[in-house]
Amino acid sequence: MEENKQKTIAVLTSGGDAPGMNAAVRAVVRTGCENGARVLGIRRGYAGLMENDITELNIRSVSDIIHRGGTKLHSARSKRFCTEEGMAEAIQVCRNNDISGIVVIGGDGSFRGARDLSLRGVNCVGVPGTIDNDIACCDYTIGYDTALNTIMDMVDRIRDTSESHERCSVVEVMGRRAGYLALNAGIAIGATAILLPEIDFDIERDVIDRIRRTQRTGKKHFIIVVAEGVADSMKAQGIEGVSGLSAYIQENLKVESRATVLGHVQRGGSPSVKDRVVGSTMGNYAAHLLLSGVGNRVVAMQKEQIVDYDIFEALKMTKTIDMDMYRAALEIGI
Ligand code: ATP
Repeated sequence: MEENKQKTIAVLTSGGDAPGMNAAVRAVVRTGCENGARVLGIRRGYAGLMENDITELNIRSVSDIIHRGGTKLHSARSKRFCTEEGMAEAIQVCRNNDISGIVVIGGDGSFRGARDLSLRGVNCVGVPGTIDNDIACCDYTIGYDTALNTIMDMVDRIRDTSESHERCSVVEVMGRRAGYLALNAGIAIGATAILLPEIDFDIERDVIDRIRRTQRTGKKHFIIVVAEGVADSMKAQGIEGVSGLSAYIQENLKVESRATVLGHVQRGGSPSVKDRVVGSTMGNYAAHLLLSGVGNRVVAMQKEQIVDYDIFEALKMTKTIDMDMYRAALEIGI
């Protein structure tokens, strides 16, 4: 009797939203349904799990979402989930709904939650969904390509006006601990200087002197890309945020300067081809792991292949910025 029991799996999105999360949700739901499972959608991440904010999904429930940014399941951050009481509530809700496993789409914080649930008997499989591309075990995270293209598009517009007025534009992009967005966007838009959280910098040497050198070659407009995570390092050098850096450039170089914080525009928008395809294939892979009874895994992309790792191992891994790429950016950004 027990062997024939229909399996119930669930899916949630957690942490910061990322374009392509919907493709992953859709893939999990359809893979589950096509393989005879009951599939539940948990709204608002772990907060919704503790509150039993759960609905049954079918193949048609996830129609018309592959091309939409954000996440139809909504996302949240929950401190309570990290407590013993919160975790116990979540486990109880899983038991009440007969949930044998959950696909958790989010960043490394969400994977820590998935690890803790797995340890308590609820199989979880993590799928990397974050625009920062900062998950150590993955070459690529869902949402990164779309966010990069959005940044490039926005900065191209800023560049048009910057060139017309012979200005310097200082642009802050997302990335609290990781500079992948800033580095790749900086290369794509031809930035004169790029400040990243992973690399020590000196404002005089790495910004002011670089602008001076570029001025000597005849250039009159400049883009400086700053990852949000460098705020403290700038502060230690007496510069308060991108508006402080813009004012400093204007004062020291007599170049009219403006600051732009791109902010949440970087998270939104219709996912790129890459994010739809990677989201779909990772969601399909994750659902198959759960359906075969495997949990405590993270799905990852390595050298264009989809693979999976033990969550404990994945969380221990570290990822560094590509210094050759950084050096190349400096050499050609003059
Ligand atoms: P992003 O990269 O977009 O920030 P994230 O998944 O890393 O995504 P977090 O806010 O770090 O985002 O984590 C999402 C949620 O995962 C948290 O609100 C919390 O409920 C849960 N979580 C985070 N860290 C832990 C932990 N150490 N143990 C258990 N649960 C955690």
